[in-house]
Amino acid sequence: MSIFTDFGLRQIINASGKMTALGASAVSDQVATALQSAAQDYVDISELYIKAGEVIAGYTGAEDALPTTGAAAGIAIATAAVITGTNLDLIERIPNVDQVPTEIIVQKGHSVNFGAPIAQMIAIGGGTVVEVGQSNQVELDHIKQAINENTAGLFYIKSHHAVQKGMQSLENMVAVAKEHHLPIIVDAAAEEDLKKYIQLGADLVIYSGGKALEGPTTGFICGKKELIEACRKQYKGVGRPMKVGKEGIMGLLVAIQRYHEKESNAADQLSRMEAFAKRVNEEVKGVSASIVQDEAGRAIYRAKLIVDEKQTGFTAYRLIHELENANPAIYTRNHYANLNIINVDPRPLLKGQENIIVNRLKEILGGTEK
Ligand SMILES: *Cc1c(COP(=O)(O)O)cnc(C)c1O
Repeated sequence: MSIFTDFGLRQIINASGKMTALGASAVSDQVATALQSAAQDYVDISELYIKAGEVIAGYTGAEDALPTTGAAAGIAIATAAVITGTNLDLIERIPNVDQVPTEIIVQKGHSVNFGAPIAQMIAIGGGTVVEVGQSNQVELDHIKQAINENTAGLFYIKSHHAVQKGMQSLENMVAVAKEHHLPIIVDAAAEEDLKKYIQLGADLVIYSGGKALEGPTTGFICGKKELIEACRKQYKGVGRPMKVGKEGIMGLLVAIQRYHEKESNAADQLSRMEAFAKRVNEEVKGVSASIVQDEAGRAIYRAKLIVDEKQTGFTAYRLIHELENANPAIYTRNHYANLNIINVDPRPLLKGQENIIVNRLKEILGGTEK
């Protein structure tokens, strides 16, 4: 049925989002073809890195770009770049450099875990993370007053993982960075807008290839010419164990090309989730469904299921456990499970799989009597 089931793995129905733990994205035929043809051929790799950078830069409006294995590698490489520039001796010593500024300022509510800690990725790149303010409140003065002669740059995380309230805006951070002639890096791993953060004045912006772009397991950094040159040079140092191969790069380029051409399918996803929510409300006992927009304001409309613990005898956690530990395994979005809320994300769901979810919910919880 699939290469995974051929090897005895369970079938996965992914209603959780672009989850790295579930394989991030299922790529289109065009991207799959790009992966295959690149993998079966040869190319001058350094030429490929330059060309890929030009292509990505074209779609992001940045001066230049660099493909990476993912956004996490992008964080490490971008950090290393602002610390070392193109100095080969420093590049070869990352993450253990001294006598140059290494402090990277991050708002406390941005220092999150996306599957691994952002702060650790910065440290791999040689950065000394300086968290400023409190996790729910950061003043501009916290940022300004943390700047000293050891400051190498500022780091802004645009993500639903980050605290959304009480943080300083990117615009404010850019202004502080410019005032102090410091570079500012933006982690926009899962963002849909490939141009916005460059336009807002970020020096380096990091994206994941396997999230909004629905590409293979890759990513990229785009930004200022000299800084991207410094990023590219990190492949002679800390970037080497994060080397992205020719097939990944070509898959990424085709994914960006297609992303640019593709119109949004948010409307289609919304109507699928509306039909799903209607069925849940009518057919599943003790669960009420509605539609909610993405917390970070992206054009993603998910079905929100509220599990009535009294009526069903199930907490959301127990229901999630039942859904995940079967074959097919159903994975939902569980950030609010503590409130007995489960979200269903339409983006990774193949057509019709929403009906499998309704049926499974009925099996576990019982249907409503008619
Ligand atoms: C997913 C994510 C990453 C890591 O991206 P990969 O491409 O999986 O390496 C980094 N930062 C944020 C905010 C993310 O959401």
